[in-house]
Amino acid sequence: LLRIENVWKSFGTEQVFRGIDLEVDRGDVEVLVGPSGSGKSTLLRCVNRLTEIDEGAIYLDGERVTDADANVNELRQQVGMVFQDINLFAHLTARENVTLGLRRVRGFGKSEARDRADRELANVGLSDQVDSYPAQLSGGQKQRVGIARALAMDPKLMLFDEPTSALDPELSNSVLEVMERLVEAGMTMLVVTHEMRFARSAADSITFLEGGQVVERGPPERLFERPERERTREFLESIY
Ligand code: ATP
Ligand code: MG
Repeated sequence: LLRIENVWKSFGTEQVFRGIDLEVDRGDVEVLVGPSGSGKSTLLRCVNRLTEIDEGAIYLDGERVTDADANVNELRQQVGMVFQDINLFAHLTARENVTLGLRRVRGFGKSEARDRADRELANVGLSDQVDSYPAQLSGGQKQRVGIARALAMDPKLMLFDEPTSALDPELSNSVLEVMERLVEAGMTMLVVTHEMRFARSAADSITFLEGGQVVERGPPERLFERPERERTREFLESIY
């Protein structure tokens, strides 16, 4: 479903990617790990073109999305993104945060958008909070509104950038549970996380990124138990 092909990227004199290749099949969960500054967030941002690549190509469902004339709005409807920093509109309720995109981007009518929003919010366990404003929600609840908002657009692919790293463990669990249900529902996901329990149980494959390249990639059992590179073992031990 997603193919990242020989992607190069620099910011000024800093070379962030030196030829990244990565493929995620439909229904698969890819977990991306690597030291701070290795480019995990940048790679996700390149996928929905919040950041432009210098060289290479990214394909979604066979379409080359990094072409200059590719439709970026359409791409962002197909690729949902959930960040570490909860980016809800503070002056809108949970329901309004979800209906906004449905109305403006998908052209849903008012009641249709409302029904869809309420359904998505129910799916993330927030039926009782539809009328709450972000300030009235916990971090985990806000993060789940963000997930509901992304899912309401019917994405083909979901990108998660450390969705739980700003949350304490209890709140993290509520978000991880929602993500685990998404995995079971067959969503294709590219996830940056330090939650190795989630990685072990949910990932089809883990990619270790460092020095602008994919150092090693493989199923969690192999990466955790028998990494091919010493550096991979060191890194995984350091984040346990
Ligand atoms: P962390 O684990 O801390 O979130 P990361 O792996 O997500 O790190 P990125 O945020 O992708 O790393 O950053 C990769 C490198 O690119 C860093 O050195 C960062 O300073 C640099 N970088 C990222 N975005 C920009 C930008 N817009 N302008 C200049 N440099 C940037
Ligand atoms: Mg990051």
